[in-house]
Amino acid sequence: MKVSYKGGALVAYKDTLMAFDAAEDLSGKALRCITHAHADHIMRVNESNPLMTVETFELLRAIRGLERRANVVELGAVVKVGPARIRTMNAGHILGSCQYAVECDEGTLLFSGDINVHDTLVTRAAEPIHADFMVVEATYGEPSFIFPDREVVYSKIVKWICDCIKDGSLPAFKAYLVGKSQELIKLVNEYLGIPVVVSGAVARVCEVYKKFGLGLSYFCMGSADADELLRSGECVYVGNRRVDVPTSRTVKWAIATGWALKYRFELYDATFPLSSHADFKGLIEHVEACMPRVVYTMHGYSMQLARILERRGFVAAALESAGTLAPLTRGEM
Ligand SMILES: [Zn+2]
Repeated sequence: MKVSYKGGALVAYKDTLMAFDAAEDLSGKALRCITHAHADHIMRVNESNPLMTVETFELLRAIRGLERRANVVELGAVVKVGPARIRTMNAGHILGSCQYAVECDEGTLLFSGDINVHDTLVTRAAEPIHADFMVVEATYGEPSFIFPDREVVYSKIVKWICDCIKDGSLPAFKAYLVGKSQELIKLVNEYLGIPVVVSGAVARVCEVYKKFGLGLSYFCMGSADADELLRSGECVYVGNRRVDVPTSRTVKWAIATGWALKYRFELYDATFPLSSHADFKGLIEHVEACMPRVVYTMHGYSMQLARILERRGFVAAALESAGTLAPLTRGEM
C-alpha cells in the first residue's frame, strides 16, 4: 500500500487507486471517497460516482443541488474495491461524516477525515479502530488548542443569550452552515426554549438533519411567524452569513468556532470556542486509541502534530511534505 498527498490522500494498493477528499484532478482513475459535506472536502464531488454516506449525499443535494449518481452507503458499510475493502466509520464531526478504513493483505489504513472525539448535542464521538497506518487531520494539532469542556461552552452561550434578551438586544449567531448551526439551534431548543429564527440556507440543512432523526425546532426567515418573532425580538437568530436582521432591537452578533480560543474576532460582540473538530488532546487520544505504526498528518498544524507524535513513539510525518508516494509495506517503516 502507498499513500501520497493530492489535496487529500491518494492510496494505491496493487492496481487499485482510492482518493480520500482529494482536491486534484485524477482523471477518473481513482475511486473518490468523500468524508463529509463541508466545502473543503468535496472539491471533486462531480467526478465519477464518489463514495459517500447517505447522509452526506442528502446534505450535498440540499446544499449544492447534487443530482448525479454516487456510491451511497450506510455508516458501517464495507465496500469491496478491487483487492481491498473500504469500511465506513463514524467520524463524529457533522451529520454523516465518516472515517474510511482501507483493509487489505498488508494491513489496515485509516483515513480520519475531520473528526470529533466527544459527543455533542447533534453528533456521537468518532470511533477508533486498530489501524496499521493512519492519515489523521491536524486542524487543531498544536498543544495550545485545548478546548474547554463542551458543557462549559454551552452554558456560556446560554448565559450570553439570556443577557442579550434581558438588556433588550437580539442575540444572533453567524455559524457554519452544516453542523454548527444545527448544534446552536439544538442548544437553544434544549436549554432555553426561546424560539430560533434561521436563514433559508440553514433551514434547508436542518431539514436533512430532521430527516435523519434529529429533532430541531425553528422558524425560517421570511415566513410570517419569523418576521413577527424578529419584530418582537424575543428570539435567537442563526444564519450562515451576517445579514440585516429586520428588527428594531439592537442585534448582537456572536461566532462559535474553535479558532476563538486563540484569535480575536473584533467585529463580534461575543466569541465561543465551540468546534466540530477534535482539539489537540483529542487528536492524540484518537491516534493512541488506533495505535498505528505509521501516522501521516494532514491539514492545519500537520508538521507540529507529526513532530509531537514522533516524540510519543510513532513513525510520523506531515503528508503534505512527504511528497511523492511513500512506501507503507510491512517492515519498511
Ligand atoms: Zn469539516
